[in-house]
Amino acid sequence: MKIIDIGINLMHRSFNEDREQVVESAIEAGVTPLIITGTCERSSIEAAKYASRYPNKLFSTAGVHPHDVKSCTHDTIKNLGKLAEKDCVVAIGECGLDYNRDFSPRDMQRKYFEQQIELACNKKLPLFLHERDAFEDFYKILEKYKNDLMNGVVVHCFTGNKEELQAYLDLGCHIGITGWICDERRGKHLIDLVKLIPLNKLMIETDAPFLTPRNLEEKPKNGRNEPKYLVHILDEIAYYLNEDIEDLANRVYKNTKLFFSI
Ligand SMILES: [Zn+2]
Repeated sequence: MKIIDIGINLMHRSFNEDREQVVESAIEAGVTPLIITGTCERSSIEAAKYASRYPNKLFSTAGVHPHDVKSCTHDTIKNLGKLAEKDCVVAIGECGLDYNRDFSPRDMQRKYFEQQIELACNKKLPLFLHERDAFEDFYKILEKYKNDLMNGVVVHCFTGNKEELQAYLDLGCHIGITGWICDERRGKHLIDLVKLIPLNKLMIETDAPFLTPRNLEEKPKNGRNEPKYLVHILDEIAYYLNEDIEDLANRVYKNTKLFFSI
């Protein structure tokens, strides 16, 4: 069984001590390739550098998360564009809007979201998107570019409602499901929604080190999520979809490879 983690924040400081071990454990668990999420200019550069050490096993994205756009300079988009030329960089992102935390001013979030959409169009790369509590503005911007988004869009870590899901699917977006679905407090609604995602639009991810599945049998001592736990997330989804886990794994694996051209 092969599983691709489309969203792992492997350059996060919580992996500084044992990054290699985390990658090895993922590979051992059948979770490979991993796509390392770039969340700011620096982490995108680091992600590409690290990914190039493991050809065909690690890939990365180049982008600035809405939390971090406040640190963008007038060279950031240009530098991301240069980075996007590398073979291991397979998408632009993580970018989008986050009105939940508002770590960057909203007008700045919108500006850099649009600039990164345009960058993805120019570089003919798919987009890896983040949206939290910002559906209306996010959708308005995305819709504006709908005829240019030929290289694909994945709305990562989807946690929204049915109407939002349908709107994304109508735009042709892929949907990333994380261990949020394993959270009995706030992820229950996803159990019904995941059934509405056509299998050719479904992708899975851990968003590690965040969002450790709450119902793991053996909980990690440090509480940190890792890509190896994607097997557990896939198992949960297969159960809810009433699908055989290997069949589902194959379908999702093929979609994901096609989407990121890996
Ligand atoms: Zn995110």
